[in-house]
Amino acid sequence: MNRGLLWFRTDLRLSDHLALQAAMDNHAEIVPVYVLDEQWLGEDEWGFQRTGPYRMKFLLECLHDLKEHLKEIGSNLIIKKGNPADILPQIAEQYNCTTVYCSKEYTYEEIKVEKAIEEDLSVEYFHNSPMIHPEDVTFPIEKMPEVFTRFRGKVEKYSEVRDIFSSPEKVNSPSLEDTPVPSLTQMGYEPIEEDNRAVMPFKGGALEAWKRVEHYFWNTEKLSVYKETRNGMIGADYSSKFSPWLAHGCISARAIYHEVEKYEEEVEKNKSTYWLKFELLWRDFFKFTAMRYGSKIFFPEGIKEEPRTWKYNPKTVRKWIEGETGDELVDANMKELKLTGFMSNRGRQNVASYLVHRLNQDWRAGAAWFESMLIDYDVTSNYGNWIYAAGVGNDPRDRVFNTKRQADMYDKDGAFRNLWLKHANVKS
Ligand SMILES: Cc1cc2nc3c(=O)[nH]c(=O)nc-3n(C[C@H](O)[C@H](O)[C@H](O)COP(=O)(O)OP(=O)(O)OC[C@H]3O[C@@H](n4cnc5c(N)ncnc54)[C@H](O)[C@@H]3O)c2cc1C
Repeated sequence: MNRGLLWFRTDLRLSDHLALQAAMDNHAEIVPVYVLDEQWLGEDEWGFQRTGPYRMKFLLECLHDLKEHLKEIGSNLIIKKGNPADILPQIAEQYNCTTVYCSKEYTYEEIKVEKAIEEDLSVEYFHNSPMIHPEDVTFPIEKMPEVFTRFRGKVEKYSEVRDIFSSPEKVNSPSLEDTPVPSLTQMGYEPIEEDNRAVMPFKGGALEAWKRVEHYFWNTEKLSVYKETRNGMIGADYSSKFSPWLAHGCISARAIYHEVEKYEEEVEKNKSTYWLKFELLWRDFFKFTAMRYGSKIFFPEGIKEEPRTWKYNPKTVRKWIEGETGDELVDANMKELKLTGFMSNRGRQNVASYLVHRLNQDWRAGAAWFESMLIDYDVTSNYGNWIYAAGVGNDPRDRVFNTKRQADMYDKDGAFRNLWLKHANVKS
């Protein structure tokens, strides 16, 4: 019997999974595989661990959840560590798989792996990550509007978010090697000390993603006030906190969009409910930017034409990382990131602007630190936002933040700065 190999990437779910669906349509049996890709386990050129402890912990939880779910419906998840281009052909041969099914990625390293796999195997790709399917826009990708407002205008007018479908009730697989999910320590990481000042505990997996939707939409109806609270910095509910689950693909952006529509029908429709969809479009905007500009989003000059050079002083950048710049808003945010793996959107904009425009340092060092630390690191959102903040992206305006004014506006009573600069973590 020829089988389909389902290669999981940043799509760690079974519902609304186009590649899984296609594999099941074409094959009686499926072989689900995840590879802990060694290229993301080492250090980067700045000396940062590419996948820091918070994201690794979250990822392992996602894998655990996915494996359990697959086992419940008759299958399993093979987990390997190494290079997917070496591992997938071996597994394909072992289980007689003719085709690999996977989600499409849009950035340099991810595409390099795809090309390497294509040398040995036939691969079918599916757009599982963007909310708007790239075939459903009215412009060719190379003519995508450069400015978000125009992109949004076109997409909102002419494109629809596709319907979603639920998890299969059964996935048939041959008897698969039962590879356990490694622990954080087996992956070479120290155990994480939880910080009670964190916005919330994040736990990976589709089950937890839907619990968060349940909480934010249906139990607390916080969605109704999202637009007013979204610039907050303390606590679980000032914003949706969907980003870690979206980044790992535990839930699709399409599913969240349709859940907002349901909420609009059943609870209320207002500017806040619209604004969550609006923010999800920003996420798409950066995915489309990566599709259009390729590796440029990693260049010093970003998507601009004129070459740019940047200063890099390791000591200055280290002070920024440690939250020791002397600017309280920046320092509080940077401490939060280092101690928890999360930072609010307001914080991210301020610290990015400060690194680039105030400390005059290479934005790529900041992006790399974010990549290492963020639980919700998503290559296109991270690099897209960083080039934007550095003035080498799609923004026509110069976005320099006055951090003192920002602190007065968004942390009037100093509660956020006090939390991270004056209070200690209370160990339970
Ligand atoms: C320098 C910088 C780096 C960033 N790096 C990342 C990253 O690696 N991963 C990531 O998911 N987001 C990144 N963001 C965007 C944004 O800060 C986070 O998505 C948001 O803070 C996550 O919290 P939330 O889920 O509660 O967001 P909400 O405010 O509840 O928004 C809902 C969702 O919309 C999307 N979204 C919101 N704002 C943006 C934005 N500016 N760009 C892209 N998508 C957005 C996210 O998927 C988010 O989960 C970055 C922003 C900046 C300024």
